[in-house]
Amino acid sequence: MASASSHAAIPAVFQELPVIRDTLITETTELQTETVSKCLIFLAGSHSSQKGPLNRHGVPALMRDEHIGYLYDSLEDYPPGFVAMDASRPWMIYWALAALSLLGEDLSRHRDRAISTIIPMQNPTGGFGGGHGQISHCASSYAAVLSLAMVGGEEALNLIDRQAMWKWLGTLKQPDGGITVFEGGEEDVRGAYCAMVIISLLNLPLTLPPEAKAREYGLETFTDGLLEYLSRCQTFEGGISGSPGSEAHGAYAFCALACLCILGEPEVTIPKCMDVQLLLSWLSARQYAPEGGFAGRTNKLVDGCYSHWVGSCWPLIQSALDGTQDAASPQSAVRNLYSREGLTRYILGCCQSKNGGLRDKPGKHPDSYHTCYTLTGLSSVQHYHYHTNSSAVLDGQFSSAFSWKYRPARDSDDKISDINVFDEKDRLKAFHPLYVIPHEAAESMRIWCAQKPLGNARE
Ligand SMILES: [Zn+2]
Repeated sequence: MASASSHAAIPAVFQELPVIRDTLITETTELQTETVSKCLIFLAGSHSSQKGPLNRHGVPALMRDEHIGYLYDSLEDYPPGFVAMDASRPWMIYWALAALSLLGEDLSRHRDRAISTIIPMQNPTGGFGGGHGQISHCASSYAAVLSLAMVGGEEALNLIDRQAMWKWLGTLKQPDGGITVFEGGEEDVRGAYCAMVIISLLNLPLTLPPEAKAREYGLETFTDGLLEYLSRCQTFEGGISGSPGSEAHGAYAFCALACLCILGEPEVTIPKCMDVQLLLSWLSARQYAPEGGFAGRTNKLVDGCYSHWVGSCWPLIQSALDGTQDAASPQSAVRNLYSREGLTRYILGCCQSKNGGLRDKPGKHPDSYHTCYTLTGLSSVQHYHYHTNSSAVLDGQFSSAFSWKYRPARDSDDKISDINVFDEKDRLKAFHPLYVIPHEAAESMRIWCAQKPLGNARE
Protein backbone atom coordinates (compact mmCIF):
# COMPACT_ATOMS: atom_id res chain seq x y z
CA MET A 1 0.00 0.00 0.00
CA ALA A 2 0.96 3.63 -0.28
CA SER A 3 3.56 4.73 2.19
CA ALA A 4 3.04 8.41 1.48
CA SER A 5 1.33 10.45 4.17
CA SER A 6 -2.11 11.56 3.15
CA HIS A 7 -3.74 14.95 2.76
CA ALA A 8 -7.38 15.02 3.84
CA ALA A 9 -8.58 16.48 0.53
CA ILE A 10 -6.92 13.89 -1.73
CA PRO A 11 -9.47 11.22 -2.73
CA ALA A 12 -8.51 7.63 -2.03
CA VAL A 13 -8.37 6.84 -5.77
CA PHE A 14 -5.26 9.04 -6.04
CA GLN A 15 -3.65 7.66 -2.85
CA GLU A 16 -3.95 3.90 -3.12
CA LEU A 17 -2.89 1.10 -5.40
CA PRO A 18 -5.56 0.00 -7.90
CA VAL A 19 -8.10 -2.48 -6.56
CA ILE A 20 -7.65 -4.79 -9.56
CA ARG A 21 -4.12 -5.68 -10.49
CA ASP A 22 -2.61 -8.05 -13.01
CA THR A 23 -1.65 -11.29 -11.29
CA LEU A 24 0.72 -12.25 -14.09
CA ILE A 25 4.06 -10.71 -13.15
CA THR A 26 6.08 -9.52 -16.16
CA GLU A 27 8.64 -6.80 -16.81
CA THR A 28 5.71 -4.60 -17.87
CA THR A 29 3.74 -5.11 -14.63
CA GLU A 30 6.87 -4.60 -12.52
CA LEU A 31 7.60 -1.30 -14.26
CA GLN A 32 3.99 -0.27 -13.80
CA THR A 33 4.08 -1.03 -10.05
CA GLU A 34 7.37 0.81 -9.69
CA THR A 35 5.93 3.86 -11.50
CA VAL A 36 2.82 3.88 -9.31
CA SER A 37 4.93 3.70 -6.14
CA LYS A 38 7.00 6.70 -7.27
CA CYS A 39 3.93 8.69 -8.31
CA LEU A 40 2.06 8.10 -5.03
CA ILE A 41 4.70 10.03 -3.08
CA PHE A 42 4.48 12.98 -5.50
CA LEU A 43 0.67 12.85 -5.64
CA ALA A 44 0.67 13.15 -1.84
CA GLY A 45 3.00 16.16 -2.15
CA SER A 46 5.42 14.52 0.26
CA HIS A 47 8.58 14.09 -1.87
CA SER A 48 11.57 16.02 -0.54
CA SER A 49 11.98 17.86 -3.89
CA GLN A 50 8.48 19.35 -3.72
CA LYS A 51 8.45 22.87 -2.33
CA GLY A 52 5.73 25.00 -0.85
CA PRO A 53 2.38 24.23 0.69
CA LEU A 54 -0.30 22.19 -1.05
CA ASN A 55 -3.53 23.99 -1.89
CA ARG A 56 -6.83 23.14 -0.22
CA HIS A 57 -7.26 20.21 -2.62
CA GLY A 58 -3.86 18.80 -1.69
CA VAL A 59 -2.30 19.85 -5.03
CA PRO A 60 1.06 21.66 -5.43
CA ALA A 61 1.12 25.14 -6.98
CA LEU A 62 2.26 25.69 -10.57
CA MET A 63 5.93 26.77 -10.39
CA ARG A 64 5.34 29.44 -13.01
CA ASP A 65 8.54 31.47 -12.53
CA GLU A 66 10.77 28.40 -12.45
CA HIS A 67 9.22 27.06 -15.67
CA ILE A 68 9.62 30.41 -17.41
CA GLY A 69 13.29 30.47 -16.39
CA TYR A 70 13.77 26.92 -17.63
CA LEU A 71 12.22 27.75 -21.01
CA TYR A 72 14.40 30.83 -21.49
CA ASP A 73 17.42 28.62 -20.81
CA SER A 74 16.14 26.10 -23.36
CA LEU A 75 16.56 28.74 -26.07
CA GLU A 76 20.27 29.22 -25.28
CA ASP A 77 23.36 27.17 -26.14
CA TYR A 78 23.52 23.38 -25.78
CA PRO A 79 26.52 21.16 -24.97
CA PRO A 80 27.96 18.97 -27.79
CA GLY A 81 25.93 15.92 -26.70
CA PHE A 82 22.80 17.60 -27.98
CA VAL A 83 23.99 17.72 -31.60
CA ALA A 84 21.16 15.44 -32.70
CA MET A 85 18.75 18.23 -31.78
CA ASP A 86 20.10 20.14 -34.77
CA ALA A 87 17.36 18.45 -36.83
CA SER A 88 14.72 19.79 -34.45
CA ARG A 89 15.49 23.49 -34.45
CA PRO A 90 11.97 24.67 -35.41
CA TRP A 91 10.58 22.35 -32.73
CA MET A 92 12.87 23.81 -30.06
CA ILE A 93 11.53 27.24 -30.96
CA TYR A 94 7.91 26.05 -31.05
CA TRP A 95 8.01 24.12 -27.75
CA ALA A 96 9.62 27.02 -25.86
CA LEU A 97 7.44 29.75 -27.36
CA ALA A 98 4.23 27.76 -26.97
CA ALA A 99 4.98 26.96 -23.33
CA LEU A 100 6.01 30.57 -22.58
CA SER A 101 2.80 31.75 -24.19
CA LEU A 102 0.72 29.36 -22.07
CA LEU A 103 2.49 30.76 -19.01
CA GLY A 104 1.46 34.29 -20.00
CA GLU A 105 4.76 35.61 -21.39
CA ASP A 106 4.79 38.23 -24.15
CA LEU A 107 6.39 36.61 -27.21
CA SER A 108 7.03 39.80 -29.17
CA ARG A 109 10.53 40.09 -27.67
CA HIS A 110 11.38 36.79 -29.42
CA ARG A 111 10.16 37.90 -32.85
CA ASP A 112 13.45 39.04 -34.41
CA ARG A 113 15.39 36.06 -33.16
CA ALA A 114 12.72 33.56 -34.24
CA ILE A 115 12.63 35.11 -37.72
CA SER A 116 16.41 35.13 -38.17
CA THR A 117 16.67 31.52 -36.94
CA ILE A 118 13.87 30.22 -39.15
CA ILE A 119 14.78 32.05 -42.41
CA PRO A 120 17.72 29.76 -43.34
CA MET A 121 15.65 26.64 -42.76
CA GLN A 122 13.20 27.45 -45.56
CA ASN A 123 14.05 25.69 -48.81
CA PRO A 124 13.56 27.47 -52.16
CA THR A 125 11.59 24.42 -53.30
CA GLY A 126 9.11 24.98 -50.46
CA GLY A 127 8.74 24.00 -46.81
CA PHE A 128 11.14 24.12 -43.89
CA GLY A 129 13.85 21.66 -42.88
CA GLY A 130 14.80 20.78 -39.32
CA GLY A 131 18.06 22.71 -39.58
CA HIS A 132 20.32 24.55 -42.00
CA GLY A 133 20.73 22.67 -45.29
CA GLN A 134 18.24 19.95 -44.38
CA ILE A 135 15.41 18.83 -46.63
CA SER A 136 11.88 20.04 -45.97
CA HIS A 137 9.75 17.97 -43.61
CA CYS A 138 6.08 18.28 -42.64
CA ALA A 139 6.86 18.28 -38.92
CA SER A 140 9.54 20.98 -39.06
CA SER A 141 7.36 23.03 -41.43
CA TYR A 142 4.47 22.72 -38.97
CA ALA A 143 6.68 23.89 -36.07
CA ALA A 144 8.15 26.76 -38.13
CA VAL A 145 4.75 28.00 -39.35
CA LEU A 146 3.23 27.82 -35.85
CA SER A 147 6.23 29.62 -34.34
CA LEU A 148 5.91 32.41 -36.90
CA ALA A 149 2.18 32.64 -36.19
CA MET A 150 2.91 32.98 -32.48
CA VAL A 151 5.45 35.79 -32.81
CA GLY A 152 3.23 37.36 -35.48
CA GLY A 153 3.79 40.57 -37.41
CA GLU A 154 4.21 41.40 -41.09
CA GLU A 155 7.83 40.32 -41.32
CA ALA A 156 7.22 36.90 -39.77
CA LEU A 157 4.15 36.13 -41.87
CA ASN A 158 5.69 37.49 -45.05
CA LEU A 159 8.78 35.29 -44.88
CA ILE A 160 6.86 32.11 -45.72
CA ASP A 161 6.98 31.36 -49.44
CA ARG A 162 3.37 30.16 -49.64
CA GLN A 163 3.47 29.43 -53.37
CA ALA A 164 6.50 27.16 -52.94
CA MET A 165 4.94 25.59 -49.83
CA TRP A 166 1.84 24.66 -51.83
CA LYS A 167 3.93 23.09 -54.60
CA TRP A 168 6.08 21.17 -52.12
CA LEU A 169 3.06 19.85 -50.21
CA GLY A 170 1.69 18.68 -53.56
CA THR A 171 4.65 16.30 -53.89
CA LEU A 172 3.63 14.60 -50.63
CA LYS A 173 0.07 13.62 -51.60
CA GLN A 174 -0.25 9.88 -52.20
CA PRO A 175 -2.56 7.88 -54.48
CA ASP A 176 -4.33 6.28 -51.47
CA GLY A 177 -5.34 9.68 -50.10
CA GLY A 178 -2.69 9.95 -47.38
CA ILE A 179 0.24 12.38 -47.18
CA THR A 180 3.93 11.64 -46.56
CA VAL A 181 6.05 13.59 -44.08
CA PHE A 182 8.67 14.40 -46.73
CA GLU A 183 9.32 13.60 -50.37
CA GLY A 184 9.90 9.85 -50.54
CA GLY A 185 9.34 9.57 -46.79
CA GLU A 186 6.88 7.65 -44.66
CA GLU A 187 3.16 8.18 -45.06
CA ASP A 188 1.28 8.63 -41.79
CA VAL A 189 -1.27 10.76 -39.97
CA ARG A 190 1.42 13.27 -38.94
CA GLY A 191 1.81 14.13 -42.61
CA ALA A 192 -1.97 14.54 -42.97
CA TYR A 193 -2.36 16.68 -39.85
CA CYS A 194 0.70 18.89 -40.41
CA ALA A 195 -0.20 19.46 -44.07
CA MET A 196 -3.81 20.39 -43.29
CA VAL A 197 -2.68 22.74 -40.50
CA ILE A 198 -0.33 24.49 -42.92
CA ILE A 199 -2.86 24.60 -45.79
CA SER A 200 -5.68 25.97 -43.62
CA LEU A 201 -3.54 28.53 -41.75
CA LEU A 202 -1.80 29.80 -44.89
CA ASN A 203 -5.02 29.68 -46.94
CA LEU A 204 -3.33 27.64 -49.65
CA PRO A 205 -5.39 26.30 -52.57
CA LEU A 206 -6.97 22.92 -51.91
CA THR A 207 -6.37 21.88 -55.49
CA LEU A 208 -3.21 19.91 -56.09
CA PRO A 209 -0.46 21.68 -58.06
CA PRO A 210 -0.47 20.66 -61.77
CA GLU A 211 2.78 18.70 -61.39
CA ALA A 212 1.63 16.67 -58.34
CA LYS A 213 2.13 12.96 -59.02
CA ALA A 214 -1.13 12.06 -57.27
CA ARG A 215 -2.94 13.70 -60.20
CA GLU A 216 -1.81 10.78 -62.35
CA TYR A 217 -3.97 8.57 -60.12
CA GLY A 218 -7.08 10.73 -60.53
CA LEU A 219 -6.74 12.84 -57.38
CA GLU A 220 -7.38 16.55 -57.77
CA THR A 221 -7.29 18.03 -54.27
CA PHE A 222 -5.34 17.59 -51.04
CA THR A 223 -8.48 16.23 -49.37
CA ASP A 224 -9.34 13.60 -51.98
CA GLY A 225 -9.36 10.22 -50.22
CA LEU A 226 -8.09 11.74 -46.97
CA LEU A 227 -11.14 10.98 -44.81
CA GLU A 228 -11.05 7.39 -46.02
CA TYR A 229 -7.31 7.16 -45.27
CA LEU A 230 -7.82 8.44 -41.71
CA SER A 231 -10.71 6.04 -41.23
CA ARG A 232 -8.44 3.11 -42.11
CA CYS A 233 -6.13 4.17 -39.25
CA GLN A 234 -8.64 3.22 -36.52
CA THR A 235 -7.54 -0.13 -35.11
CA PHE A 236 -9.36 -3.12 -33.61
CA GLU A 237 -8.75 -1.56 -30.17
CA GLY A 238 -10.65 1.58 -31.13
CA GLY A 239 -7.60 3.83 -31.00
CA ILE A 240 -5.88 5.43 -33.97
CA SER A 241 -2.56 4.36 -35.45
CA GLY A 242 -0.01 6.26 -37.49
CA SER A 243 -0.90 4.35 -40.64
CA PRO A 244 -3.36 1.58 -41.53
CA GLY A 245 -2.45 -1.71 -39.86
CA SER A 246 -0.15 -0.45 -37.11
CA GLU A 247 -0.62 0.04 -33.35
CA ALA A 248 -3.02 2.60 -31.86
CA HIS A 249 -1.12 5.50 -30.28
CA GLY A 250 -2.18 8.65 -28.42
CA ALA A 251 -0.18 11.13 -30.49
CA TYR A 252 -1.51 9.73 -33.75
CA ALA A 253 -5.03 9.84 -32.30
CA PHE A 254 -4.68 13.58 -31.76
CA CYS A 255 -3.20 14.14 -35.24
CA ALA A 256 -6.04 12.21 -36.90
CA LEU A 257 -8.85 13.79 -34.85
CA ALA A 258 -7.50 17.33 -35.18
CA CYS A 259 -7.10 16.75 -38.93
CA LEU A 260 -10.74 15.59 -39.12
CA CYS A 261 -11.81 18.74 -37.24
CA ILE A 262 -9.94 20.92 -39.75
CA LEU A 263 -11.57 19.07 -42.65
CA GLY A 264 -15.10 19.73 -41.38
CA GLU A 265 -17.41 19.97 -38.41
CA PRO A 266 -16.44 17.44 -35.72
CA GLU A 267 -19.97 16.05 -35.46
CA VAL A 268 -19.83 15.26 -39.18
CA THR A 269 -16.27 14.15 -39.89
CA ILE A 270 -15.49 12.19 -36.70
CA PRO A 271 -18.54 9.84 -36.74
CA LYS A 272 -18.16 9.50 -40.50
CA CYS A 273 -14.62 8.11 -40.16
CA MET A 274 -14.48 6.58 -36.69
CA ASP A 275 -16.42 4.16 -34.51
CA VAL A 276 -16.89 6.75 -31.76
CA GLN A 277 -17.95 4.33 -29.01
CA LEU A 278 -14.87 2.17 -29.58
CA LEU A 279 -12.66 5.25 -29.73
CA LEU A 280 -14.10 6.50 -26.42
CA SER A 281 -13.42 3.14 -24.85
CA TRP A 282 -9.78 3.17 -25.99
CA LEU A 283 -9.20 6.81 -24.99
CA SER A 284 -10.74 6.20 -21.55
CA ALA A 285 -8.40 3.28 -20.96
CA ARG A 286 -5.40 5.59 -21.47
CA GLN A 287 -6.00 7.37 -18.14
CA TYR A 288 -4.64 5.49 -15.13
CA ALA A 289 -5.40 5.55 -11.43
CA PRO A 290 -3.89 6.37 -9.04
CA GLU A 291 -1.46 8.28 -11.30
CA GLY A 292 -4.18 10.38 -12.98
CA GLY A 293 -2.14 10.97 -16.15
CA PHE A 294 -2.33 9.31 -19.56
CA ALA A 295 -0.31 6.58 -21.22
CA GLY A 296 0.11 6.66 -24.99
CA ARG A 297 -0.59 3.00 -25.75
CA THR A 298 -1.99 -0.17 -24.20
CA ASN A 299 0.28 -1.56 -21.46
CA LYS A 300 2.55 1.49 -21.46
CA LEU A 301 3.41 3.78 -18.56
CA VAL A 302 1.87 7.15 -17.80
CA ASP A 303 3.77 10.03 -19.47
CA GLY A 304 3.26 13.79 -19.14
CA CYS A 305 3.35 14.54 -22.86
CA TYR A 306 0.14 12.56 -23.39
CA SER A 307 -1.57 15.18 -21.25
CA HIS A 308 -1.76 16.89 -24.63
CA TRP A 309 -1.73 14.07 -27.17
CA VAL A 310 -4.48 12.13 -25.41
CA GLY A 311 -5.86 14.97 -23.27
CA SER A 312 -6.48 17.25 -26.24
CA CYS A 313 -8.52 14.51 -27.97
CA TRP A 314 -11.27 15.01 -25.39
CA PRO A 315 -12.50 18.47 -26.45
CA LEU A 316 -12.62 17.22 -30.04
CA ILE A 317 -14.67 14.14 -29.13
CA GLN A 318 -16.86 16.21 -26.84
CA SER A 319 -17.49 18.63 -29.68
CA ALA A 320 -18.37 15.75 -32.00
CA LEU A 321 -20.95 14.56 -29.45
CA ASP A 322 -22.31 18.02 -28.60
CA GLY A 323 -22.45 19.36 -32.15
CA THR A 324 -22.18 22.98 -33.28
CA GLN A 325 -22.90 25.39 -30.42
CA ASP A 326 -24.43 28.81 -30.40
CA ALA A 327 -21.42 31.10 -29.93
CA ALA A 328 -23.16 33.19 -27.26
CA SER A 329 -24.70 30.40 -25.19
CA PRO A 330 -23.07 26.99 -25.58
CA GLN A 331 -25.02 24.10 -24.07
CA SER A 332 -22.83 21.10 -23.55
CA ALA A 333 -24.80 17.93 -22.97
CA VAL A 334 -21.69 15.80 -22.49
CA ARG A 335 -19.55 16.15 -19.39
CA ASN A 336 -16.69 14.41 -17.71
CA LEU A 337 -15.49 12.19 -20.49
CA TYR A 338 -12.27 11.92 -18.49
CA SER A 339 -11.02 12.86 -15.03
CA ARG A 340 -9.86 16.46 -15.28
CA GLU A 341 -9.02 16.26 -11.60
CA GLY A 342 -6.77 13.25 -12.11
CA LEU A 343 -4.86 14.87 -14.96
CA THR A 344 -4.39 18.08 -12.96
CA ARG A 345 -3.03 16.11 -10.01
CA TYR A 346 -0.61 14.21 -12.25
CA ILE A 347 0.72 17.31 -14.02
CA LEU A 348 1.11 19.53 -10.95
CA GLY A 349 2.09 16.73 -8.58
CA CYS A 350 4.28 14.41 -10.66
CA CYS A 351 5.56 16.37 -13.68
CA GLN A 352 7.06 19.55 -12.19
CA SER A 353 10.82 19.40 -11.80
CA LYS A 354 12.18 21.18 -8.74
CA ASN A 355 14.38 23.57 -10.75
CA GLY A 356 11.73 24.30 -13.39
CA GLY A 357 10.63 22.51 -16.53
CA LEU A 358 8.17 19.63 -16.70
CA ARG A 359 8.83 15.96 -17.35
CA ASP A 360 7.47 12.64 -18.51
CA LYS A 361 7.23 11.22 -14.96
CA PRO A 362 9.08 11.31 -11.60
CA GLY A 363 12.68 10.20 -12.07
CA LYS A 364 12.97 11.65 -15.60
CA HIS A 365 14.66 14.90 -16.57
CA PRO A 366 12.52 17.78 -17.83
CA ASP A 367 12.81 18.93 -21.45
CA SER A 368 11.10 21.58 -23.52
CA TYR A 369 8.96 19.01 -25.41
CA HIS A 370 7.44 17.67 -22.18
CA THR A 371 7.21 21.17 -20.70
CA CYS A 372 5.20 22.31 -23.72
CA TYR A 373 2.84 19.37 -23.87
CA THR A 374 2.19 18.91 -20.14
CA LEU A 375 1.30 22.60 -19.95
CA THR A 376 -0.89 22.31 -23.06
CA GLY A 377 -2.70 19.46 -21.29
CA LEU A 378 -3.11 21.56 -18.15
CA SER A 379 -4.54 24.41 -20.23
CA SER A 380 -6.98 21.95 -21.85
CA VAL A 381 -8.16 20.89 -18.39
CA GLN A 382 -8.66 24.51 -17.41
CA HIS A 383 -10.81 25.62 -20.36
CA TYR A 384 -14.00 24.32 -21.90
CA HIS A 385 -13.72 24.39 -25.71
CA TYR A 386 -16.56 24.15 -28.20
CA HIS A 387 -17.00 24.85 -31.88
CA THR A 388 -19.67 27.28 -32.96
CA ASN A 389 -21.75 28.71 -35.74
CA SER A 390 -19.55 31.82 -35.78
CA SER A 391 -16.19 31.68 -37.57
CA ALA A 392 -13.35 34.19 -37.62
CA VAL A 393 -13.07 33.25 -41.31
CA LEU A 394 -16.13 34.51 -43.13
CA ASP A 395 -15.52 32.82 -46.44
CA GLY A 396 -13.20 30.30 -47.93
CA GLN A 397 -12.29 26.78 -46.91
CA PHE A 398 -12.14 25.29 -43.42
CA SER A 399 -14.19 28.04 -41.79
CA SER A 400 -15.35 25.66 -39.02
CA ALA A 401 -11.72 25.19 -37.92
CA PHE A 402 -11.73 28.88 -36.98
CA SER A 403 -15.05 28.78 -35.13
CA TRP A 404 -13.74 27.37 -31.82
CA LYS A 405 -14.45 29.34 -28.67
CA TYR A 406 -13.72 28.71 -25.03
CA ARG A 407 -14.55 29.75 -21.53
CA PRO A 408 -12.75 28.95 -18.28
CA ALA A 409 -13.68 25.57 -16.84
CA ARG A 410 -15.59 26.24 -13.66
CA ASP A 411 -16.48 24.12 -10.66
CA SER A 412 -20.12 24.59 -11.49
CA ASP A 413 -19.64 22.45 -14.61
CA ASP A 414 -20.02 19.45 -12.34
CA LYS A 415 -19.50 20.03 -8.65
CA ILE A 416 -19.85 16.43 -7.67
CA SER A 417 -17.57 14.36 -9.80
CA ASP A 418 -14.99 16.66 -11.36
CA ILE A 419 -13.95 19.84 -9.59
CA ASN A 420 -11.14 22.25 -10.38
CA VAL A 421 -8.29 21.28 -8.08
CA PHE A 422 -5.92 24.02 -9.27
CA ASP A 423 -5.82 27.54 -7.83
CA GLU A 424 -7.04 30.40 -10.01
CA LYS A 425 -3.53 31.93 -10.08
CA ASP A 426 -2.36 28.72 -11.78
CA ARG A 427 -4.74 29.01 -14.73
CA LEU A 428 -2.86 29.08 -18.06
CA LYS A 429 -3.74 30.78 -21.33
CA ALA A 430 -6.17 28.92 -23.59
CA PHE A 431 -4.82 27.36 -26.80
CA HIS A 432 -6.63 26.67 -30.04
CA PRO A 433 -7.63 22.98 -29.82
CA LEU A 434 -6.57 22.20 -33.42
CA TYR A 435 -3.57 24.49 -34.02
CA VAL A 436 -2.05 24.30 -30.49
CA ILE A 437 -1.15 27.99 -30.43
CA PRO A 438 -3.16 30.94 -29.05
CA HIS A 439 -6.54 31.39 -30.76
CA GLU A 440 -5.69 34.92 -31.86
CA ALA A 441 -2.38 33.78 -33.41
CA ALA A 442 -4.13 31.17 -35.57
CA GLU A 443 -6.88 33.55 -36.61
CA SER A 444 -4.50 36.42 -37.38
CA MET A 445 -2.31 34.26 -39.61
CA ARG A 446 -5.29 32.93 -41.56
CA ILE A 447 -6.90 36.38 -41.95
CA TRP A 448 -3.59 37.92 -43.04
CA CYS A 449 -3.05 35.17 -45.63
CA ALA A 450 -6.62 35.41 -46.92
CA GLN A 451 -5.97 39.06 -47.72
CA LYS A 452 -3.01 38.07 -49.90
CA PRO A 453 -4.22 35.38 -52.33
CA LEU A 454 -1.53 33.50 -54.20
CA GLY A 455 -1.12 35.14 -57.60
CA ASN A 456 -0.83 32.23 -59.98
CA ALA A 457 -1.49 29.38 -57.56
CA ARG A 458 -4.32 27.90 -59.58
CA GLU A 459 -2.58 28.11 -62.92
ZN1 LIG B 1 6.58 11.71 -23.29
